[in-house]
Order: sequence, then C-alpha cells, then structure tokens
Amino acid sequence: MRIDDLDAARCRPGLAAAQLADLAALGLDWDGPVVRQSERAALYDAAIARLDAAGLLYPCYCTRAEIRQAASAPHGPLAEGAYPGTCRDLGAAQRAARERAGRPPALRLRAGMAPVTFTDRQLGEQRGVVDDLVVRRNDGAAAYNLAVVVDDIEQDIAEIVRGADLLETTARQLHVRALLAGPPVAHAHVPLVLGPDGARLAKRHGAVTLADRARAGQSALQVRAELAASVGLAAAGEEPALDELLARFDPAALPREATVMSA
Ligand SMILES: [Zn+2]
Repeated sequence: MRIDDLDAARCRPGLAAAQLADLAALGLDWDGPVVRQSERAALYDAAIARLDAAGLLYPCYCTRAEIRQAASAPHGPLAEGAYPGTCRDLGAAQRAARERAGRPPALRLRAGMAPVTFTDRQLGEQRGVVDDLVVRRNDGAAAYNLAVVVDDIEQDIAEIVRGADLLETTARQLHVRALLAGPPVAHAHVPLVLGPDGARLAKRHGAVTLADRARAGQSALQVRAELAASVGLAAAGEEPALDELLARFDPAALPREATVMSA
C-alpha cells in the first residue's frame, strides 16, 4: 500500500486516512506497513543524482504558459502537453540570465522523443514517444513520473494495474525505469468508472463516497456488491463474500469499455 502524496497542495490532512478506512470497510487489506511518498524524498534525490551524474538532466525555466505557446508553434508534431525543448541547449550565459531573473528551475530529463513500445494486458500493443519530462519540479519536490518509478522498483512491483486515464504516462515511466535499470514490469490499464454524463465519476455526480452512500442507507458491502456487478463478478442484488469474488476474478474477463454508474 502506497500513498502518492507528493503534491502537498492537493493532499489535505486526513484524506489518506479516510481512504484507507474506506478500503478496510470494503474488506480490502494489504501487505506490510503503508508507504508514503512524502516520507521518501531521500530515495528520489538519489535517483535524480544518478540521472544527473549520467549527464541526462538540465534546468528548465519555462512557465506553463510558455510551454503551451511554444508547443503550439508550427515547427513539428508534438503530442498534447509535450515539452518543446526550449531550455535543452541553453548556454551558460543564457542560464545565468534566467537565474538572475529569479525563476526557480525545474529539472528535465533528456529523453529526446525516445520511442517506447509495450504490450498492455488489456489494450494490447502500445507505442509512445518520450518528451523531456520533469524529474524535479521547480518547487523542489520530486515529480510524479520519477517518484512512482523509483517506488515501483524499490517495492518490487511486477505488474501495474491502473486506470486507462494514466496510459499516456506509461511510455515516460518505462523510459525512466530503463534508465534506472529497473527489472521488466507488466501493465494492465483498465477502463474508468464514468458518471451518467460520460465524464469520470466525481463529487459533482452526487453520492460517490462510502460516507455519501451510507447516508443514503447503503452499506459498504452493498457498495462492494454493486462494484462487483459492474465488472461482471456478481449478479445484480447478489452480495458475494470476498473469497468468492476472488475465486471468480479473471483479468481476461474484465470489461474493455468504461462502466457508467449513476451516483
Ligand atoms: Zn524550459
């Protein structure tokens, strides 16, 4: 169990504890103590130092607006949100000028639009190219794409199962993993749960948390049964025990399309 809480602005106190309590109420448990990214800066620093020692990092002074503007300029195809390479080859004088202007730099990886292919267990053959991603944010914190790879390697994660909305980050993470000499890892990207309007199920759709559902008279185990039914593991209205759900679980039978739920 790992809490990805590097983004201090988004991680309100008590949020992680509430999420762990929700998982426990659903009957889910986990191995070993809970690992928190906010307590692992030394690990990320060591990985960043390795990449830097290999000459793979450079400071980037761009604002988000500048990156958007440069990426939309008509000089070559760039994926949505990809970094256009503005700071990759700055000279010492140009860097000094930006430092004097007081902009704290982020650190980016020289990935050079490296091609990455992998076979996703659910989605099949996937291809991506890797732009110069950020490994240290300009507020000093390790970037998400760096931290999750360091943790996945350190925690011996052999199979990554996650939402299809993260598919676009996988090529970047596989590239970082290779640079850090991580062992091979398998991926399965599963479809999201959507609200009735087709957008990712969220607060604005209504009663989406266990607490909301409890106020509406639904127990955690009824919610679990509803979730199980939504992926074909239970009949409507049936409340299978956890070991029964485990016995029925077959990744190959998971839906390939998003599930639409009414909140
Ligand atoms: Zn830049």
